[in-house]
Formats: sequence, structure tokens, C-alpha cells
Amino acid sequence: MPHLSRRIGAFTESVIRRMTRVANACGAINLSQGFPDFDPPEELAAALAKTALVGPHQYAVTWGAPNFRAALARKQSRFMGIPIDPDGNIVVTCGSTEAMMASMLTVCDPGDRVIVFSPFYENYGADAILSGAEPVFVPLRPPDFTFDPADLRRAFEKRPKAIILCNPANPTGRVFTEGELMAIARLAEEFDAFVITDEVYEHIVYAPHRHVYFASLPGMRARTISCSSLSKTYSITGWRLGYVIADPAIIDGVKKVHDFLTVGAAAPLQEAAIVGLEMPDGYYDRLVESYARKREVFLGALDRAGLRYTRPQGAYYVMVDVSEFDVESDVEFCEWMAREVGVAAVPGSSFFREDVRHLVRFHFAKREETLAAAGERLRSLREKARGRR
Ligand code: GLN
Repeated sequence: MPHLSRRIGAFTESVIRRMTRVANACGAINLSQGFPDFDPPEELAAALAKTALVGPHQYAVTWGAPNFRAALARKQSRFMGIPIDPDGNIVVTCGSTEAMMASMLTVCDPGDRVIVFSPFYENYGADAILSGAEPVFVPLRPPDFTFDPADLRRAFEKRPKAIILCNPANPTGRVFTEGELMAIARLAEEFDAFVITDEVYEHIVYAPHRHVYFASLPGMRARTISCSSLSKTYSITGWRLGYVIADPAIIDGVKKVHDFLTVGAAAPLQEAAIVGLEMPDGYYDRLVESYARKREVFLGALDRAGLRYTRPQGAYYVMVDVSEFDVESDVEFCEWMAREVGVAAVPGSSFFREDVRHLVRFHFAKREETLAAAGERLRSLREKARGRR
């Protein structure tokens, strides 16, 4: 058989998505891959049922159905505080996964450098390899997961084409402050780099923290490529609806890449999701209130299990310190925990560039009963871990 590409040998399958299969195989409560075990708002389900009968069922415009883009432009300009033209500024993609990939392919030539904070959402590593870019890592140091401005400057001195900014951050739950974002903005300007954002948790930010859209910072609109999705905001991760928002000069490139990658996001799902984009502000307030309760339920459970963690400021992940269990391989530890304790998490090493094995990531996008049940199981963790060795 001829050789497969060198490209695919350069990265492994997603550990996050593998942990879901491990959880399913051993019947563990799945707090690994972040997705809800509750339904989307009824309005979306009803719109989907109606769309099944009346359509559309054929291709939408490749960069997004006009009515979906119009609704998205209205909603995002309301929250981002910038004017957004549905024709000139938006490409609708198959999830933010495609949004990020299409953005990387649009801005990077093979050999270009891209700054990635570590820990990082594992897709960025593969995105870099697939687009031929070379990641330059800047550490976010635990337990606070902040960056040292001097580290960031050194990374920019390597003349990267872009920086990838996940805010609120997966896996750390960090919400970058306006000061931190301004520091990034000044360097992006000084070294003339693009800023590719992943802002899928834009509506899941716990007070007093607040989300600042990078594109809304003074002077940053033209160099910011904002990627996000409807997955987390409307609890529809399986609908695969994401988007890129950027200046027309960039969007024209993204349109071409996207067209040949996927042609388009599912037309009936775009149609059905419009009702979500038209939700009033109260919807977003209730969303964050409900996640704030889930956070309290789950952190309370971690406290009762005697586990140490970094309190998330946004998103729905928490990094838990398992150093007391003398973990040699966090991958094995997570597999053992799924099997013996019945709770699945993601090994921290899959997010870090550095050799970090003492952290595991749990997510809490689950019903409160599910979180309470996971908490009960985690109370046996220490006891069971003693028998592990
Ligand atoms: N963002 C989710 C996570 O980190 C997973 C998204 C995905 O698998 N596409 O778990």
C-alpha cells in the first residue's frame, strides 16, 4: 500500500472525543467531552420539526442562508457592539471547528508561525499542522492560568502570522481581562499579526467576570477573525452551526476555503436555529444563571470529595489537581477513573504543550442530577485510588 500523508502522522486522534467512547464503553458519567445532557430550548426543537415538513432541504448559499446571516448579524452586532454586514462580514460554517480551520487556512502559508497559549483546546494543534503553520506556545501558568507579558512579547518577536485566542478559555475556564486583551492587542498591532478568536463560550461568563469581544477593542476590528458557534449558546452541539466574522477582505478568503471544504452548513438546521438567534436578552441571562448553578453544584461536589481545583470564571470546564494520587500517566488515570469510579474526565496532558500530568479536566454542562450523581461517585475517588497502586 502506498504511504499515507506525512500530515496525518503528525497528530493523534482527539483525546477528548476518545474519552467519550471510553465513558460509553464503561457506562461512566461523561464529564469529558463538553456537551449537554439536556435539551435545547423548545422553540428550536419546534422550529426543527416544522422545517422537516416545509424545508429548506437543499443547499443554502455556500456562506450561509441569507435569513440566518441576517439574524446572526443582528444578534452579534448587539452583543459585540460593532456593525456587522450579513453579506460582507459573515461565513456560516460546520461548527466553530470548521470556522477555526477555515480561518487558519485563509491566513497561513506553510511555515508561518501561529501563537497558541498552552494549555489549549486540542483542535488548534491539528489546525496548525493541517494548515502547515508552526505553533509558538506561550504558557498560561497554573493555578491562575495567566500569561507573562514578557513571554508573549518573545513569541511575537518570532513574527507570527496570527495568535489564537480562546476566550473564555477551554480548558482553563479563564476569562481574560480587558487589560490582558489590550496587551495582546498592542503586540498584535506592533508586530502586525492577525488575532483568530474562539469565543464559543461568549455567553457563559460568571459575574463579576465579563466577556470582552476582541474585535470590539479599539483598532482591532480589521485584524480580528472572530470564530464562534451556536453549539454552546443554544445547547445544539450536534447541529454543527458555527461562523466566522471578519472584515470583507478576510471573509472573501474564508468564503473560498469554506466553499471547497464543506460547501455549507446544513440548510434545515440554519433555518431552525434562527428562532434561537432572535431570542431576547433574558434568554442569555437565564443561560448563564443556569450554568452558574451547575458550577456551584459541581464545585461543591469537588469540595466534598476533597479535590483541589481552579475556580472557572467562564465556560463550563474545571481543571482539577490530582497530584496527590501520584499520577504517572494522566491518560491511564482517567481511564481508570472512568472504569472504577464511573466518572469520565479528560487528561490534562492533552491540552498542554509542557509535560503536565497532574491536572484533569471535568465539564459541568450536565443536568444538576447528573452532576450530583457524579459528585457522589467522586467521593469514593480517594479510597479507590489507594487500591490503585
Ligand atoms: N469543546 C468541547 C470540549 O472541549 C468538544 C467539542 C468537540 O468535541 N467538537 O470538550
